[in-house]
Amino acid sequence: MENKKYTIKCPECGTDVEVSRPAVINVQNDPEYKIKVLTGELFNEKCPKCGQGLQVVSRITYHDMDKRLMIYFRPITSQDELKTFDYEAIRSAIEDNFKAPNYAIRVVTTVNELMEKIKIAEFGLNDGVIEIAKFVYFDIFTKQFDGVGVVNIYYERRDDKDALIFFCNDGKTRSILIAPEVYSSIEKRFSAVVNAIYTSRVCMVGRDWALRMIKAYSKLDSENNGETPDLKPELKLLESEN
Ligand SMILES: [Zn+2]
Repeated sequence: MENKKYTIKCPECGTDVEVSRPAVINVQNDPEYKIKVLTGELFNEKCPKCGQGLQVVSRITYHDMDKRLMIYFRPITSQDELKTFDYEAIRSAIEDNFKAPNYAIRVVTTVNELMEKIKIAEFGLNDGVIEIAKFVYFDIFTKQFDGVGVVNIYYERRDDKDALIFFCNDGKTRSILIAPEVYSSIEKRFSAVVNAIYTSRVCMVGRDWALRMIKAYSKLDSENNGETPDLKPELKLLESEN
């Protein structure tokens, strides 16, 4: 496995700490690295001088041949990186380099997204369906928890069930069960687009993507005078934690 060296300045004592991290993780060759990503171990380091915990967020190409999953982690950790982030350039570079058919090819910019994509694939789910499900549940969540802001929503497997974890601005997280019938109705209704993202197209499948799809479909509905199917499931809380 090819490692790249990075130098991080310890914010506590100012020491330059040299760390080495893989630029490419091939899950079949290095299965332990999948665990290191999922536990977060890969992104943590300690300053050898003062013991301060350091965050190591480096570019990783994550490849799981069995699951036909390719994730390009291109971290954005500062406003400057956000300004210079050029998705089109990343996409065309990937398209020039990786040509295997029927892959899920994703570009992600945060550690949480990277972990989430791996978990979604682990349980055989479609990440496009999950992103749309977040909107469906967000809608009823805000009605039920009036006044509670939602900071982030991530997929998680809880108690052998598929769930969405809502990180709220009251400091609590709330786990909401994804009802299998909701999942399958999204899968059916959005079948064209959720299947297309598994055909080796390079995509960022996140909130913006889901919003575009939902808008496009509701426009189609209004043009066809069709009824928008009622996707208003019951909200099932799995647990509430502090
Ligand atoms: Zn230090």
